[in-house]
Amino acid sequence: MSATVIQFNPAPGISSNQRPKVDLNDLLTRHDVPGPRYTSYPTIDQCTESVGVGALEDALKGRCLGGLRRPMSLYVHVPFCESVCYYCACNKVITRKHDRVSHYLNCLEHEAMLIAKKAAGNLTPVTQFHMGGGTPTFLNDKELLGLVQGLKMVFPFAANAEMSIEVDPRTVDENRLLSLRSIGFNRISFGVQDFNSLVQKAVHREQSFESVESLVKAARRLGFESINVDLIYGLPKQNPERFAETLDQLVSLSPDRVALYGYAHLPERFKPQRRIHSEDLPDAAGRVALLAQAIERMQGAGYDYIGMDHFAKPQDPLAVAKRQGRLHRNFQGYTTQPDADLIGLGVSAISKVGSVMVQNTRELDAYEDALSRGHLALFRGHELTRDDIIRYSVIMGLLCQGSVQFQDYSQSHWIEFESYFEKELAQLRQFSEQGLLDMDEQGIEVTPLGWFFARPIAMVFDHYLHQRSSGHSKVL
Ligand code: SF4
Repeated sequence: MSATVIQFNPAPGISSNQRPKVDLNDLLTRHDVPGPRYTSYPTIDQCTESVGVGALEDALKGRCLGGLRRPMSLYVHVPFCESVCYYCACNKVITRKHDRVSHYLNCLEHEAMLIAKKAAGNLTPVTQFHMGGGTPTFLNDKELLGLVQGLKMVFPFAANAEMSIEVDPRTVDENRLLSLRSIGFNRISFGVQDFNSLVQKAVHREQSFESVESLVKAARRLGFESINVDLIYGLPKQNPERFAETLDQLVSLSPDRVALYGYAHLPERFKPQRRIHSEDLPDAAGRVALLAQAIERMQGAGYDYIGMDHFAKPQDPLAVAKRQGRLHRNFQGYTTQPDADLIGLGVSAISKVGSVMVQNTRELDAYEDALSRGHLALFRGHELTRDDIIRYSVIMGLLCQGSVQFQDYSQSHWIEFESYFEKELAQLRQFSEQGLLDMDEQGIEVTPLGWFFARPIAMVFDHYLHQRSSGHSKVL
């Protein structure tokens, strides 16, 4: 493997001859360790069975105290898929029995009403609604319409709410996209992963480039405000030549956003992955080379790196928000929306209200059974401590603004930042020496190159990390 030496897009005000020239492969290899995606801090695995319905109810009732009116973000999990993708690590149920949907929809409706009742009038407008899975388009148009209408009767939706849905291209055609648009979805995310037929066969997810291309074109014609495409690197049978072709095809589609995830092979934890032949997987160096290749190709095509595996066109609201320091991150990933409370509905869904985080059971039968008996199906939760809240704000500062000014944090949290985080600041020196951070007595700034390593940098502030097993995906 030859080293990739790359010039990174500089920060505003830095001329091209000041751009650092670095061996990207070397840095990516050094920081390729398991780590969380930080859609929350602490991560959901800190939840215990001792926090549940009571804590959630208190948090819901206290939402609007003191004039605070945080907006709401709503997530619905649809667990059903018709066939299994071998790389899958999601919570899903593989079935072709579509008659299972109606009972599940009833449970979702009960759950929404129970939450609204517990909130006792403290609901604020939903500014962000997202459907994920599983396969949300396992539901037919009538079921999707009924679900969205039902939710709107329980929760107030803001007129300009972001409404997004994950779409498996194999499950929709242009007519279905039209239905999604008329139901009110204005953002769409296509799960592609790779266009090469050998790779697709190896992961049991076959879809032609032409079919995805016609769907992306249709979505654009239909006025979806944001079109995202998901890719995965590190899949079986991927190699530089095949991946180059996939990246060229991706760029030709010109999606507004691209999410590029690293495949984490954990067959002992995720059963479908046992059907992937480990000899087909790129080795660690090959995996890193694929990532470096993707970064170069996406930057060459004019995409901005947002952070944590995400790229966006420079004019996309996410890229604009990043440049203006207005980026946020929540359970749904990077967003331009200010901090919102999250209500998660459905099996395995997570809610976070104020400082309380809870998760529904991951077993479909147990979820449906609890709701049928009129109870929420929570199985674990966590209440953020003061230290969690401080660390959360530092981690989000690094991942969203790429900057932590010590005085701001000292004042807002009543701490002496440099002494509170003495150990962490010492650990950050290695990143500074590698050109990934600028540090002085005022604060920390992530460099343009450092954005690709924001997750390992943030991990330094994760108090729980040393207690965890390596159940997380690789950082890069
Ligand atoms: S990757 Fe998505 S579509 Fe494939 S089995 Fe998993 S949840 Fe279902």
